[in-house]
Amino acid sequence: MSNTQKLVALILLLIQPAIFSQTLSHNYFEKNREVYFKIELNDKSRLAELSRIISIDNFAAGEVYAYANENEFRNFSKLNLEYQILPHPGDVENVQMSDDLKSIEDWNVYPTYDAYVNMMYQFQSAYPNICRIESIGATVEGRELLFAVISDNINQREAEPQFMYSSTMHGDETTGYVLMLRLIDSLLTSYNSDTRITNLINNVEIWINPNANPDGTYRSGNHTVSGATRYNANSVNLNRNFPDPDDGPHPDGNAWQPETIAMMNLASAQHFVLSANFHGGAEVVNYPWDTWSDLHPDDNWFKYISRQYADTVHTFAPSNYMTGFDNGITNGYQWYTISGGRQDYFTYYHGCREVTIEISDSKLLSASLLPAHWEYNKNSLLNYIEQCTFGLRGIVSNTTGDFLKAKITILNHDFNNSEIYSDSSNGGYYRMIEPGNYTIVFEADSHETKTIENIQIENGTVYNLDVVLTPDYIVPVELVSFSADLNESKVSIKWATATETNNYGFEVERKLDNSEFEKIKFIEGAGTTAGPQNYFYEDHLNGIISDEIIYRLKQIDFSGDVNFSNEVLINNLTPNDFELSQNYPNPFNPATKIKFSTPPQPSPYQGEGVKERFITLTIYDILGNEITVLVNEQKHPGSYEVIWNAEDQTSGVYICKLAAGSISKSIKMILLR
Ligand SMILES: [Zn+2]
Repeated sequence: MSNTQKLVALILLLIQPAIFSQTLSHNYFEKNREVYFKIELNDKSRLAELSRIISIDNFAAGEVYAYANENEFRNFSKLNLEYQILPHPGDVENVQMSDDLKSIEDWNVYPTYDAYVNMMYQFQSAYPNICRIESIGATVEGRELLFAVISDNINQREAEPQFMYSSTMHGDETTGYVLMLRLIDSLLTSYNSDTRITNLINNVEIWINPNANPDGTYRSGNHTVSGATRYNANSVNLNRNFPDPDDGPHPDGNAWQPETIAMMNLASAQHFVLSANFHGGAEVVNYPWDTWSDLHPDDNWFKYISRQYADTVHTFAPSNYMTGFDNGITNGYQWYTISGGRQDYFTYYHGCREVTIEISDSKLLSASLLPAHWEYNKNSLLNYIEQCTFGLRGIVSNTTGDFLKAKITILNHDFNNSEIYSDSSNGGYYRMIEPGNYTIVFEADSHETKTIENIQIENGTVYNLDVVLTPDYIVPVELVSFSADLNESKVSIKWATATETNNYGFEVERKLDNSEFEKIKFIEGAGTTAGPQNYFYEDHLNGIISDEIIYRLKQIDFSGDVNFSNEVLINNLTPNDFELSQNYPNPFNPATKIKFSTPPQPSPYQGEGVKERFITLTIYDILGNEITVLVNEQKHPGSYEVIWNAEDQTSGVYICKLAAGSISKSIKMILLR
């Protein structure tokens, strides 16, 4: 502290009893959004109960520091606990403000609201190739919720991790606000001159929101941050207003605020991998969970990145900065539990990893101390962004080339929603995890699950693992036609596919009379293709003895799965090979003679040899009813005659049909009684 600050502190201490009474004036909340106070609490087990009623800001040395709006304070009063009203941290006189922050080289002032908004849009106009400003919505009082998005190919959602920093959702915790603006400026001005920053911008999509609660910060008007409040304009603590894994959608009993809804919509629309949320009032990196005592499955990794942040700070800061708790880091629940915090919301509901970084003991830090806090933190700020470039990563797609939203589970490791998902827009996934040997399961709707073992992860390195899943909703090969045509002694076999997936090829199979299908040829497939493919094979029948030949295709994919086509039939005989003569006499009464012959020689395509054929000779009436079967047996090639005695039939026309396999011939006969 400077001598002036010590003097101010001393004066405040001396006059405090006169100004701050133990009870609030009856009209306190007519003028004020919230009250700041402290409670002696020897029994730490009551913290959870208190945390549901009031907004705890800190717990240290048996004292709870807290905020309350009117309703919260009324409920707190029912507990009859001793408390002491404290000066509000935002009530700081003579804050150095500027209309044009960037014209002040040292960043040792706070921007007016207009200066802030102008500065954000100037970033975009000065660096249009690597910066775009996104307004994600408006506050209760209509101020803008702004993000600077920084990346190469700024208008594309590339397959690279999306990272987020957001500050000052407690409007009176202003240190991070200016540090974020300065970080944006530093990233943009260093692109292509600083290798490390250039790499970050080329490989990460960085989202930075300097102020998540401008209605709180500018409570006294757009010209000053003096009088800033923790809560938003509806007197709601935004860091208790999110859905909570343990306490449901509305853990604070309030409707979602516009600021909360905007952030929830952003979380759904984007795919943040890693984020941090800046606060003030302490100096510590607070990692999940806040809501329950369970440790996050990646607790060791969270400790590691928190440790990296704090240890890097220790290299650049005085020895008393960020050294409380476990030398600058703490598990959230171990400090004090809260419900509805943004850290747990992003971590539990969006597969992101978020920590809360308390960046200065003083909430509304004296503007003159902002440059020093920048120096303490700037390397850690870059380090922390870099964390999302390490670990297991890759692209999940399917065999037809579509990017997939896949659930990625570390076997025997993940629980409490710690599984992550790949981004459906580009298939990218990023799984930061402590060193170890892991088995990873990739699952996507309508696709076969894939499990990959023996993935060895080290700190500070990248393991690239692209995964292709096979859809279970399409046949691997879509066959659109298949035909076989006999010409002379050759059969032309043609088929076509519309699409092929993972197609090794086709076996052409042939079945002769009284035998099984056998492979006659393998034809290579096109692998995976969305374009139509045509195939042809000519089967030479020299020496084949079979009246009927059946063909089919056996499609085989690269994993060995097979599918059969429909069957097509070739008649190796023609009707001309058979003769069925007109009966004699005709008309007749009651008997007549029918002559027929089967091919005396094997058909030209049958090759050598004499062959029995299965022959039927059947009589039908004119309506197609079967009357009698005269022949039903194997016959050697040759000529035959049979007598039909129709003495128990009535006069009329009758049909006699000769059939051999799929070939048939008919004659009409007239019975006159
Ligand atoms: Zn805070």
